[in-house]
Amino acid sequence: MDTVKCLIIGSGPAGYTAAIYASRAAMNPVLIEGLQPGGQLTTTTEIENFPGYPNGIAGTDMMGEFRQQAIRLGTTCISGIVTKVDFSESPFKVTLDDGTLYVADTVIISTGASAKYLGLESEDKFKGMGVSACATCDGFFYRKKVVAVVGGGDTACEEATYLASLCRKVYLIVRKNFLRASQAMQDRVMSTDNIEVLFEHNTVEILGDGEGVTGVRLKKNDGEIYDLPLDGFFLAIGHHPNTEVFREYIEVDAEGYIKTIPGSPKTNVPGVFAAGDVQDPHYRQAIVAAGSGCMAALEADRFLKSK
Ligand code: NDP
Repeated sequence: MDTVKCLIIGSGPAGYTAAIYASRAAMNPVLIEGLQPGGQLTTTTEIENFPGYPNGIAGTDMMGEFRQQAIRLGTTCISGIVTKVDFSESPFKVTLDDGTLYVADTVIISTGASAKYLGLESEDKFKGMGVSACATCDGFFYRKKVVAVVGGGDTACEEATYLASLCRKVYLIVRKNFLRASQAMQDRVMSTDNIEVLFEHNTVEILGDGEGVTGVRLKKNDGEIYDLPLDGFFLAIGHHPNTEVFREYIEVDAEGYIKTIPGSPKTNVPGVFAAGDVQDPHYRQAIVAAGSGCMAALEADRFLKSK
């Protein structure tokens, strides 16, 4: 059994930033890196919108730098997956998949949210080579090109509109005969000349070659199948917050995102904080996650000092 002042769960920008601040506050944090060390950013190609990298940086490199900085300042990074928690009383208990038990005075949950994918083999093959789940991250690389966005909710409409400002043409692939997005977003999509909505269409395969995506095979609800040439394919069919293991103790909203006290990283359990996409269905940006990681570490420090 290991006892720590501050246990951070999750290794995206929120987790590593929390670790940097917690280290500097002499909390000797332990950070559990999880299934995908570095988080969602490691699935993107180049990051151009994180301040401080004037020439852009690869997602994996940026997260490597966050990690190095946290370690240099005193964070212990542990490879493992949290399988069980007990937040019924302080100190809190956190168990990893290898059976290691941590007892922690404070916990920062920064397990992020995972973009949902369609589950096609070809989609997996071209991830980062034309298949992306983040228009804000990758849209810039498709300037004046032809792309498609799949989904009919607010995210899909927002991403399609954003891409339309950069790309020559944007197809919005919607499986039903209506959009689920808010009326305002629907109106924006419908009034954008270079967006074409393909209702009642399903993606059956992503087509590509050694260079990346070249198109998509679509099946209409009436059974017709055809290929549409494309340069990029964007998923916007929702995100799934990684909160299952905490739900017995931590309040979540209808979609599973952790509820925090507005404007703070505090959860319903004093001493347990949440930062990053795991509590943010709206912005989902690395810089926002990093900022909330900082807030969580500051609050954890205050919590420890108040005891
Ligand atoms: P939603 O769950 O609202 O929408 C997901 C969309 O993806 C739906 O159109 C759904 O289709 C479609 N979809 C799901 N699975 C598949 C699949 N396997 N194949 C094809 N299509 C699929 O997710 P969003 O990310 O859009 O939004 C999440 C929440 O965040 C919402 O509450 C939204 O309002 C909010 N949000 C708000 C924004 C804002 O206010 N600016 C911006 C972005 C999000 P179907 O309709 O057929 O189920």
